[in-house]
Amino acid sequence: MREITHIVMHCTATPATSDIGAADVHRWHLQRGWSGIGYHFVIRRNGAVEPGRELEKKGAHVAGFNAKSIGISLAGGVGANGQTPVDNFTDGQLLTARDLVFDLMATYGVPLDHVMGHNEVIKQITHGAPKACPVFSMERFRAMIMDLHDAEVDVEVAEQWGSDMADDDEVEVSAPTHTVVSGDTLWGIANRYGTTIAEIRAANPSLSGDLIQPGDVIRV
Ligand SMILES: [Zn+2]
Repeated sequence: MREITHIVMHCTATPATSDIGAADVHRWHLQRGWSGIGYHFVIRRNGAVEPGRELEKKGAHVAGFNAKSIGISLAGGVGANGQTPVDNFTDGQLLTARDLVFDLMATYGVPLDHVMGHNEVIKQITHGAPKACPVFSMERFRAMIMDLHDAEVDVEVAEQWGSDMADDDEVEVSAPTHTVVSGDTLWGIANRYGTTIAEIRAANPSLSGDLIQPGDVIRV
């Protein structure tokens, strides 16, 4: 498998009334003379996810940034005139995209700040001509992923407390710990546990700078 560092979100730039799937995009991209669909996944208007290009293969979705990225496209993104960018995506599409990206992040170790919109990649990395794609708010999308992540962390924390109580003969009162996963930030962790970065630093003298790695166990 090729190395994956980023997940890039797109839209098909089609109206809400167009029921676009991976086969349609495949046909369009063949017509452009490409080797077929440039995205790795397409999410239909009804929220169904359809595979596009094989993940092992480099996509064709962001000029200059295809080698190490995965491209996901949501059907929609323009108004009835077929031109004006409009955030017309369905809740089903966004929830499917959230779950798909969450799984891909875990599989390939992609941090949350490497989940970017096409427009963000152009602005921050490739510096090409500005685009509206993917039209929906990436801040909101990343917050949705963080919420899903937090819900899973809550379960892990509950399990951690439970095992501490069962295994710890010395009844040492210890702070709960958080095991860092991909995408975590100190700020995010502090926020989640109702503490501050300063308090986390005080409880974890071994922390150097802001650098945390997946697998690190932090007292919170
Ligand atoms: Zn795009």
